[in-house]
Amino acid sequence: ALMKGPLAPLYFCIGSPVVGNPTQYMVEAAFDALGYCGRYLTIDVDAEELDPSIWGLLAMNFAGGNVTAPFKQEVLTYLDELTESASLCDAVNCITRKSDGTYIGDNTDGKGFLQSLIAVAPDLKKRKVMVFGSGGAASAIVTELALYGVREVVVVNRTEAHAKTLVNNLEGISRTQLKVDRWAGTYQIVENDLVVVQATSVGLFQPGACIDVAFAPALQNVIACDVVFNPVETAFLKKAKSAGCLTLDGLGMLVNQGAIAIQLWTGKEPDKALMRSSLEEAFAVC
Ligand code: NDP
Repeated sequence: ALMKGPLAPLYFCIGSPVVGNPTQYMVEAAFDALGYCGRYLTIDVDAEELDPSIWGLLAMNFAGGNVTAPFKQEVLTYLDELTESASLCDAVNCITRKSDGTYIGDNTDGKGFLQSLIAVAPDLKKRKVMVFGSGGAASAIVTELALYGVREVVVVNRTEAHAKTLVNNLEGISRTQLKVDRWAGTYQIVENDLVVVQATSVGLFQPGACIDVAFAPALQNVIACDVVFNPVETAFLKKAKSAGCLTLDGLGMLVNQGAIAIQLWTGKEPDKALMRSSLEEAFAVC
């Protein structure tokens, strides 16, 4: 039908490759359920065309959008303002056009993860959290854990130098003790009451792949989380579950980071259950 009145607010998801990126499904489902007329486009941007592509999106007054790999860092220079999270982890995954026409970049990955975790660990501040990985997802998560004031975070990464850089960049932002531990051979998880976060890319689209960790038998009160969302039940989560850990999948983080973005864009609270089920439907066809 022909549109009357104001034009639909436009949102983008830029990255490369973005074929198979499921965000559009959950955002459009949430927009529809809210009665919000926003439109969300998934756009594959050639790295060499990033500059004109971003200027074009901003010039056309896009109302906001998501940024995914490999542009989460490069996009920073185009924005007028950054939130504390985005500037601490030096990456933006969510952009919002403010009422004065300027653009602010945020990082909602770590915030989305934290929401999922707090829901199952209300005592999180008192816990020790082990994070495997030191890339974009790990950095966003460690940033948020430190801002929240978790007692201790230990970062373990295949390339130890990347873990050291991550921790050094966040040193002193809160009272959280930030440490690096070495990953030589199979990493043994032996402490009770831990939160263990699988934040490497291992397992994405590889149902059998798992990072090289082993859970001691009869661990008490350990929560194991994965950032990988496809498959939803990763080999890491299966291993943790069979060792008696409570598990948290990456789909919850994906839904939460998307819900935070929709709140920033529309000021409204989206239906997270609907967002999760639309992702599950999308995975069935992608
Ligand atoms: P990056 O490429 O930035 O980082 C990858 C990390 O994985 C690095 O720490 C790398 O270690 C490690 N790694 C890669 N291969 C191996 C291996 N074989 N063994 C051990 N470690 C390995 O990726 P991102 O951080 O951006 O993404 C990581 C995952 O998080 C992806 O699967 C992504 O889909 C997911 N993600 C999920 C989100 C959600 O909402 N659920 C949001 C954002 C991301 P090294 O430093 O040694 O190279």
